[in-house]
Amino acid sequence: MAKLLEVENLHVSFHTYAGEVQAVRGVSFSIKEGEAVAIVGESGCGKSVTAKAIMRLLPPGITDIKEGDITFNSSNLLNLSEKKMQLYRGKEMSMIFQDPMTSLNPTMKIGDQIAEGLMKHNKISSKKADVQAVELLRMVGIPEPERRVRQYPHEFSGGMRQRAMIAIALACQPKLLLADEPTTALDVTIQAQILELLKELQQKLGTSLVLITHDLGVVAETCERVVVMYAGQVVETGKVEDIFNTPLHPYTQGLLKTIPRIDLDRKQTLEPIPGTPPDLLDPPKGCAFFARCPYAMKICQSETPELLEIENKQLARCWLHHPIAKRMYKES
Ligand code: SF4
Ligand code: MG
Repeated sequence: MAKLLEVENLHVSFHTYAGEVQAVRGVSFSIKEGEAVAIVGESGCGKSVTAKAIMRLLPPGITDIKEGDITFNSSNLLNLSEKKMQLYRGKEMSMIFQDPMTSLNPTMKIGDQIAEGLMKHNKISSKKADVQAVELLRMVGIPEPERRVRQYPHEFSGGMRQRAMIAIALACQPKLLLADEPTTALDVTIQAQILELLKELQQKLGTSLVLITHDLGVVAETCERVVVMYAGQVVETGKVEDIFNTPLHPYTQGLLKTIPRIDLDRKQTLEPIPGTPPDLLDPPKGCAFFARCPYAMKICQSETPELLEIENKQLARCWLHHPIAKRMYKES
């Protein structure tokens, strides 16, 4: 599989009254054609900011992409004009958000909202676009699509609105779909249905998927690879089964303890990770997880560990696994 998207050393800051918040601090990861990758972490870890940087949807003026490259299909998105980016959004890459009500236009019929993108990007007639809108609603599992297509967002349930958002996002068959907490606002049974739909369409259409979530529990069934973020940095990445079976970073280990697992013994107790993430107005000098880490050592407070490949294709940013540190401890 060829590489579709590569994010390299991305640094994003917000300018606030209190000072510069370093929301994303040197994030790198890539995604291949047709691959499903999850970005996981607590709120405020920089996962949504990373996704919005990819879509070039960060608010200008208060945000600053300080460093880095975002290469999509061999063009650097950060060098594209806004006009060119508008041709990319919806056509080459799409994004869906947690609350479809804020992304859907309440004054426009669902069908017209789907048809809009089709007419803009595929240059087809409104008649053809209307026919395709019905087919798209059918594809995302909305019953009676011929009738539903003429309804307004408020006539749809939460789950159906998210289905309609998926139809809009996939209408022009983009190569990349970014889904930012797409099920967080829905109740549990609907959540599972929406995730299943996303997975099914992603496989059927060959779309690459970046699923952003704070809930590691939703990742196993949906994605092949996981990127774990903490305090604006990637702290671990690897295949889903490796992350679940042998998490290397203490933060990933902590996240796993917060979700119920049917593959473990029934006596498993769910434990939240104590403490809070550091203030990114003034990020700590050493490891960002130091204050919450049960294994913290002296070196962790003063030196930032690099993200290194520890096992086959599994990378972690932690001194516990660093080859140099390991050697040092053996020698001392
Ligand atoms: Fe914990 Fe140190 Fe690893 Fe950070 S580098 S996660 S403080 S052991
Ligand atoms: Mg977010």
